[in-house]
Amino acid sequence: KAMLARIDAVEERVNAYITVTPEEALKEAEAADRRIAQGDIDLLTGIPVGLKDIFVTKGIRTTCGSKILHNFVPPYDGTAVARLKERGAVILGKLNQDEFAMGSSSESSYFSTTRNPWNLEHIPGGSSGGSSAAIAAQEAVATLGTDTGGSIRQPASHCGCVGLKPTYGRVSRYGVIAYASSLDQVGPLTRDVKDAAIMLGAVAGYDPMDSTSVNTPVPDYLAGLESGVKGLKIGLPKEYFIQGLDPDVKKAMDSAIELYRSLGAEIREVSLPHTEYAVATYYLIATAEASSNLARYEGVRFGHRSEAARGLTEMFAKSRAEGFGSEVKRRIMLGTYALSSGYYDAYYLKAQKVRTLIMQDFLKAFEDVDVLLTPVAPTPAFKIGEKLADPLQMYLSDIFTIPVNLAGTCGMSIPAGLSAAGLPIGLQLIGRPFGEQSILNAAY
Ligand code: GLN
Repeated sequence: KAMLARIDAVEERVNAYITVTPEEALKEAEAADRRIAQGDIDLLTGIPVGLKDIFVTKGIRTTCGSKILHNFVPPYDGTAVARLKERGAVILGKLNQDEFAMGSSSESSYFSTTRNPWNLEHIPGGSSGGSSAAIAAQEAVATLGTDTGGSIRQPASHCGCVGLKPTYGRVSRYGVIAYASSLDQVGPLTRDVKDAAIMLGAVAGYDPMDSTSVNTPVPDYLAGLESGVKGLKIGLPKEYFIQGLDPDVKKAMDSAIELYRSLGAEIREVSLPHTEYAVATYYLIATAEASSNLARYEGVRFGHRSEAARGLTEMFAKSRAEGFGSEVKRRIMLGTYALSSGYYDAYYLKAQKVRTLIMQDFLKAFEDVDVLLTPVAPTPAFKIGEKLADPLQMYLSDIFTIPVNLAGTCGMSIPAGLSAAGLPIGLQLIGRPFGEQSILNAAY
């Protein structure tokens, strides 16, 4: 009830949610109370959480931030959502995001612009901007987001919360609306590291419904947290500490590095030589996969259907023309082009090869160090509208997060201080594949 009252009080200014579900939430909360009364207590029993609107939820409208799904009510819960519910979590509603998770500011949503609770003129980050703003504005205790190229870590960084992108395969993607299937991962946004460990533990693990989920045991992430960083080898990739890094971000990184050193960590410079190709590689692979994944929205089986169409072909075309926003259309066109015969070898295949080189950069660095420390984003949250006219500028803001998705490994964002203007700055810790425990420990 307190959480719903808080949502009522601040939502007009923050706009974190697309859909709030108070009736369902109160019912789930009463069920949680009954469970607790019977002594059936789990760490998540009764904990109010919010979900990015990319997670399909049984009986609750799921839009993925798009007009084309404005009326879509899924018949089932995805695995991550089902696991949270089984543990007794209470779902408060569905959070705003960039349309189909394409963006870095949440401005491409069809529904509304979410504002950064630290300064309402600024973006909350994206694409999971509703998920980060809800944490910062205390409109949920924890939220789930997805990260294809930074969409958990960057909004967490911009809103001063903790955000974790697990290793590809750690969390099931079943019931998560697909953007770029070889990059998408589910993860938590929380107020602190302990909460992130609890949430990750709840959703991680093998799922027969997702053939890319990996069947390795899920450690007790909470139990290991206090092992400290003495003797931990932390690598600083020199390609990430480039000229042009915002001075406030640089300062925050320097003081974090000093802190780790004073706690007994060993700091080393490392190199990830193919970093400069990451953004180009990502925008070929992500758009190619998106163009294929988004072919299913044609107005026939679900979602928006054009009223104006006469005939089948026109229905496909008009439903898509009316239903998708301009960023989504841009990506479908880019991806379709990259996959076209005659261009496939030059673009998509080449991008896959460079992706392997980027992956090898990380594996090589992890021969010398345990975790990597980098900024999450080159600047603190920019102003609403500032980068809308220039998609390339928007794409470049993901330069430090995208390589982790291409490599398939895990990374997290933790608060590392404020800029002179009072906006949060995030620090990224990157771990070995399935090394979530080590980055959680270092973060803690
Ligand atoms: N900003 C990146 C993009 O637009 C990453 C988005 C994401 O991780 N979903 O594709």
